[in-house]
Amino acid sequence: MKIVKFGGSSLADSEQFQKVKNIIEEDSDRKYIVVSAPGKGKHNNHKVTDLLVMCHQLASHDLNFNEVFKIIEDVFVNIVEDLNLTIDIRTILDDVKNEITNGASYDYVISRGENLSAQVLSNYLGFEFIDSKDLVVFNKRTVDFNKSEKKIKEVLEGKEYVVIPGFYGSNEESKITTFSRGGSDITGSIIASSLGAEKYENFTDVSGFLVADPKIVNNPATINTITYKELRELSYMGAKVLHEEALFPLRDKNIPINIKNTNAPEDAGTLILAKCDSKNTNIVTGISGKKDFTVINLEKVNMNSEIDFFRKLTTVFESNDIPIEHLPSSIDSVSVVVSDLKLSSKMDKVLESLKIYLNADKISTERDISLIAVVGRGMINAKGVSSRIFTALAKSGVNIKMISQGSSEINIIIGVETKDFENAINSIYKEFYKEEEK
Ligand code: ASP
Repeated sequence: MKIVKFGGSSLADSEQFQKVKNIIEEDSDRKYIVVSAPGKGKHNNHKVTDLLVMCHQLASHDLNFNEVFKIIEDVFVNIVEDLNLTIDIRTILDDVKNEITNGASYDYVISRGENLSAQVLSNYLGFEFIDSKDLVVFNKRTVDFNKSEKKIKEVLEGKEYVVIPGFYGSNEESKITTFSRGGSDITGSIIASSLGAEKYENFTDVSGFLVADPKIVNNPATINTITYKELRELSYMGAKVLHEEALFPLRDKNIPINIKNTNAPEDAGTLILAKCDSKNTNIVTGISGKKDFTVINLEKVNMNSEIDFFRKLTTVFESNDIPIEHLPSSIDSVSVVVSDLKLSSKMDKVLESLKIYLNADKISTERDISLIAVVGRGMINAKGVSSRIFTALAKSGVNIKMISQGSSEINIIIGVETKDFENAINSIYKEFYKEEEK
């Protein structure tokens, strides 16, 4: 049995609804369907959830939200009319509009996109609609996995072929509570985990994860299989297809997630697994990166023998509320890599505190640094991977500013000047993926 989740672009209009129906009907194991709110599509330029956010904002200032709500109405009415559905969507929409006028909560209002989308799809498929307010349990703003699992088993016991709205549940006071944006992915994974699904299929508008950002690398290869750990490393650095928190409920149960494309369902997509072969695989699974970091270099002779040196160093950053991203060091020097966003206006204060507190011989900074993560479980068994990366970078004239490899050996982080960012990613990609271009 499979849990299948469709993202906003898969439900943007009636044509997309038809594709969704075909996909579901193709495989009778696709029994539990989780949906997002309609997203941007050929005929609509706005995500329904964004429009609902606007409606709530306007209504809470006693301003007229008719015009914005009309766009939402059109999205749903067009789908229902195009597909000749029997659902009385106008009355349901009127009810939602009244609730917004009467001061419904923010979470309630923004959850209606998923709620309506699930009601419409259940009508179209002839599946039962089950409201996720009765399935997903929140404790204040955090989802309670154990309670949710109990509820899901209880409510869905003996039920098959159902449609469930993603993105929300209810809290201890039975009030609608939402996940963070993009959270329908989490609903799907909680249901898959609770029911012990064979697979969690997540349909979106791309055929899985790509080895590198297509805005940087021309036509990059698709990642066929990736482990949860590799994905965590890549998404932290910026590769986003699936909500980060969607991995946690599935991790312990070893349920595979298959990222697939509604517009090309025949493509295999990417399979995310708790564990997979690290032998017969590409050495590098993916390359991702992030711009806008600063490196603060500290030099102090014999700093390694000062027992409290690193404690003092981290205290300065902690007291300024700045997380340290990386901390490569040598005998007499250490580099602290921090994100510009967190450092912003605190730079002078931090440098001053480091000078006084650590009594450093020299402090210097380098701005405009980008970090690149080269991730791959295949690196554990391969020799000479770093040398290949560094040679490729040297040949392309990229100056490496920092290197860091964790003990897991699945990730090498390289700091380069931001002006070299795109060039660096392209040269690493070519080294491991494009034999013919070398
Ligand atoms: N509709 C919500 C959003 O736009 C949740 C989701 O699509 O997963 O963030």
